[in-house]
Amino acid sequence: MPNNVLTVAYIGAIALFIISVGGLSNQETARRGNIYGIIGMLLAVVATALNPEVAGYPIIIVAITIGAIIGAIGATIVPMTGLPQMVGLFNSLVGLAAVLIGFAEYLKLDYSLLGVDLTIHKLEIYIGVFIGALTFTGSVIAFAKLQGLVSSKPLVLPGRHWMNLAMFVGSIALGFQFMSATGQEALLPLSIMTGISSILGIHMVMAIGGADMPVVISILNSYSGWVGTATGFMLSNDLLIVTGSIVGSSGAILSYVMCKAMNRSFANVILGGFGEGAGVVAAPSGDRQIQGEATPTTAQETAELLEDAKNVIIVPGYGMAVAQAQFEVSEITKTLRSRGVEVRFGIHPVAGRMPGHMNVLLAEANVPYDIVLEMDEINEDFPKTDVVLVIGANDTVNPSALDDPTSPIAGMPVMEVWKSATVVVFKRSLGSGYAGVGNPLFFKENTLMLFGDAKKNVGAVLRELTESEPEIIQETVLVR
Ligand code: NDP
Repeated sequence: MPNNVLTVAYIGAIALFIISVGGLSNQETARRGNIYGIIGMLLAVVATALNPEVAGYPIIIVAITIGAIIGAIGATIVPMTGLPQMVGLFNSLVGLAAVLIGFAEYLKLDYSLLGVDLTIHKLEIYIGVFIGALTFTGSVIAFAKLQGLVSSKPLVLPGRHWMNLAMFVGSIALGFQFMSATGQEALLPLSIMTGISSILGIHMVMAIGGADMPVVISILNSYSGWVGTATGFMLSNDLLIVTGSIVGSSGAILSYVMCKAMNRSFANVILGGFGEGAGVVAAPSGDRQIQGEATPTTAQETAELLEDAKNVIIVPGYGMAVAQAQFEVSEITKTLRSRGVEVRFGIHPVAGRMPGHMNVLLAEANVPYDIVLEMDEINEDFPKTDVVLVIGANDTVNPSALDDPTSPIAGMPVMEVWKSATVVVFKRSLGSGYAGVGNPLFFKENTLMLFGDAKKNVGAVLRELTESEPEIIQETVLVR
């Protein structure tokens, strides 16, 4: 393929990637965005393969076939709740590829390069290998923590920040050695730095609690993008530079959005120590004594409330994903709407365990997009709402985030469900959620608790609703 055609193909692929990312920002256009991304990637792979500098087609075809099979199987069998760890695993491969390419590039270094050109190229290799090794091991640990292969508790070693600093400074010092050495001699500092950076990746992620792992995955995803950019510079490949930057910056923006929605900072997440209790059901009132008594309810009572309601808001959370209750929730929505009740959904930006988690589940269950609203779009409507159904959400509906400055989640924006006339919370116990904090919502006067698995209980409410379908009263004709 001539170079100018290759350039046009690359520009086309870049444009498709940008349109794809734009499409993914909205659930109505997300499917289309994905398709643009697939076409862009296909174009990029084919154009790169047809580059006259590329040789060894049999090996490339075998590698692509194996990769495609693994990818297709992974995408088919991994459940929605397992996506964060799958992304973690994929990020690790990008890091590993960058390390291998960095070493390969160094081994075939073109010593006809002189002065600044040689310095820049060696710097690209060094930085690419450094971020690559860190991303590789960090992502493997993040995967292992999310998959439960490694304890999700943060590993807090004494003086850990100093250890990290020492490793970072050591890597810089080795960088000077690498830059001034030539030939085989430079391989030693490069290899030692790779080892140090790998340990740094392990240590940094081991120190982070399982609770923060989804944010860490997003940060590592951003690193994998920058690794791609560094590799693009190493290989003088413009497509890789731009694509890496798109992934790097969108990963960084996503991490920022997640941190903001959790009222955390990057530094707070990276420095670790939060969420030690993740995955453990805390004592009924969480970490502090919350006064009051919870009022249990039944499926029948909930159905009666819904029958009398004019407007209903459904607020789903992680529990809906665990219970896979979205289909029953969708059926209830259909039933109520067919009876003239206004039903809308309120989605907190960090409901569930990954951005867009709830939107994907609701789309899977064919809930119309136009009744699924973001927190900012719906939060003011709760005071005008008759019934709110909280399905497996906890932290994202916790009033202490707003009214208790000492709460660990103080300042986090939440769905203000308690302002509605009645709230029904579907969950199995009074236990805490992801952040491990108690929730005073459960003890409010206008809150009813429907205890049990969300799928089972939403199904039971649905049955009550459909069984009480307004009966058609037979008119009796009196025959004289
Ligand atoms: P939470 O994790 O706060 O709570 C989920 C609740 O679901 C639990 O309290 C649990 O209560 C309940 N539950 C679990 N299984 C079931 C079941 N089968 N049936 C019914 N209920 C069930 O969820 P939220 O969605 O409200 O909040 C998400 C949390 O995750 C936030 O703290 C957020 O910061 C954090 N987070 C989110 C990320 C994202 O990108 N979305 C990323 C990183 C963190 P019980 O055991 O009593 O049933």
